[in-house]
Amino acid sequence: MDGIFDYLSSYDYENVFLCQDKAVGLRAVIVIHDTTLGPATGGCRMWTYDSDWDAIEDALRLARGMTYKYAAAGVNLGGGKTVVIGDPKRRDREALFRTLGRFINRLGGKYYTGEDVGTTLEDMEYIRMETEYVVTLPTYLGGAGPISPMTAFGVIQAMRACCKEVYGSDQLRGKRVAVQGLGAVGYELAKQLTELGATVWGTDIDEEKLEGVRREFGVKGMDPKGIYDVECDIFAPCALGGIINDETIPRLKCKIVCGSANNQLREDKHGDLLTERGILYGPDYIVNAGGTIYDTDRLGVGGVSHERGRAKVARIYRTMEKVIDISKRDGNPTYRAADRMAEERIRAISEVRKYVDDLRP
Ligand code: NAD
Repeated sequence: MDGIFDYLSSYDYENVFLCQDKAVGLRAVIVIHDTTLGPATGGCRMWTYDSDWDAIEDALRLARGMTYKYAAAGVNLGGGKTVVIGDPKRRDREALFRTLGRFINRLGGKYYTGEDVGTTLEDMEYIRMETEYVVTLPTYLGGAGPISPMTAFGVIQAMRACCKEVYGSDQLRGKRVAVQGLGAVGYELAKQLTELGATVWGTDIDEEKLEGVRREFGVKGMDPKGIYDVECDIFAPCALGGIINDETIPRLKCKIVCGSANNQLREDKHGDLLTERGILYGPDYIVNAGGTIYDTDRLGVGGVSHERGRAKVARIYRTMEKVIDISKRDGNPTYRAADRMAEERIRAISEVRKYVDDLRP
């Protein structure tokens, strides 16, 4: 990546911290994108990268994504991310993550970390031994516990808002939903949808998971390759990124795409293509914010409250409605409208915060 400062200034990044400790074999990048709304928050990813620049680029991209996610969700947090360069299956993790915890502590609360691809709750416990600036903790350490059920609950709220727009009613009873991926979120989504009276088709490359939801909730099983062809009202991607693309869009027989998977659009143009085909797209970071809204709710208010956390996640309904309104106002597809909404909130709150309450000479 040539001209790193040009890149930082083009997307208004605040800081990039490089952390290394030879003795424990730590090489990590911490990025703080924007703290207008509050401390930068975002998970810690552990991955092998082809080059150090690739790792930095990934951390930069992910941190910026978190700024938009929190801003759009109405949460008072900024965007940040950590990338640890290394094999996610590495076994000796205590010293590694405790050292990272020390580095995070140095930032004095400007950045909170959490679990992400390649890291576990146990790693977060190690980080917690050295710093308080960590979310996604088990309940016995003051955290909110598993967040996937709340992610699924948030997806349901976004689906209801989309149904209101498309069908004139936000009821999911009788709606036909095709769920791709029956892991932590997909399983919960299948459960909650069937409880609400929807008819669910499900698929997973893991036969056991599919069999489980068939048996427990009466989900109709589908072959993973055929899920795009299901005649349904809502297609819910809950597995991989990039699955909305040139090959799959012509096959979709739904009116709504709304699921938890990150980066569903292979390219921006695929969001435009969905709109052209009359399919309403629930932007991934709006739809899947429930888990992190619930998880971070305890910050600054002194502890976990299931009721308060759940009430905040329920606001995803209203957020999705706003995205649809902005999309109509500007004549833009919903994925662009979501970005506009996040940027407008950051701009508005930066105005509020110009009134400094601690003036010192
Ligand atoms: P998971 O790993 O528990 O589940 C993913 C499931 O998808 C697995 O069961 C896997 O076998 C299945 N799968 C993989 N490839 C598939 C394919 N080609 N066809 C069908 N199934 C396939 O992950 P998760 O935590 O449930 O997350 C699902 C998605 O939602 C991911 O994109 C994740 O980044 C995103 N997400 C999750 C959360 C959360 O709270 N867990 C929050 C925000 C976003």
